[in-house]
Amino acid sequence: MAQAKKIRKRITIHANKCIGCRACELACAAFHAKPRYSSINPARSRIQIIKDPLKDIYLPVYAGEYTATECTSRNKYILDGKEYSNCDFCRASCPSRDLFKEPDSGLALKCDMCEDTPPLKLPKCVEWCPKGALIYEEVEEQVQEQAPPLGAIEIGVESMIEKYGLQKVLETVAKLARP
Ligand code: SF4
Ligand code: SF4
Ligand code: SF4
Repeated sequence: MAQAKKIRKRITIHANKCIGCRACELACAAFHAKPRYSSINPARSRIQIIKDPLKDIYLPVYAGEYTATECTSRNKYILDGKEYSNCDFCRASCPSRDLFKEPDSGLALKCDMCEDTPPLKLPKCVEWCPKGALIYEEVEEQVQEQAPPLGAIEIGVESMIEKYGLQKVLETVAKLARP
């Protein structure tokens, strides 16, 4: 199958630089407000800061996929002498917590990398982070090109032949192909 180039956008988090100012949450919430910039509710942000000031924990987490059920593999992690729970690192909009849910509707929120037309130079959270804790990168990747969904077309042609007969279908295709 043919190879194609694709640009993958990613944001690397440097949690040790984060001071928990929440500028990223405000920027994201304002950018995604409808109409844009009409409100700033950090509960609507697709990035959330996991905070525990007594343990000096400030961990930026991006909203990922929705999950309908809680997972069962929750552990505690010690990193740089700080104790985190498994849920702290998780990006899911999950029934076990209020994170990454639209406050009025409860619908799951997911980071969309601030896709816009024309494209932004930087996602809003990255642009507004005063500490360089969020680093934006574009990485070129080789991906396999998707084959066209021939199966559905073949089934459609077969059923037309069954219904109208081969000759009729061929005549119609010839008519459509004429300039
Ligand atoms: S938030 Fe994530 S880690 Fe925690 S229970 Fe839900 S899916 Fe599991
Ligand atoms: S990249 Fe955009 S959508 Fe994603 S968290 Fe940052 S501001 Fe929000
Ligand atoms: S803007 Fe930067 S420093 Fe402030 S909370 Fe967000 S990631 Fe942390």
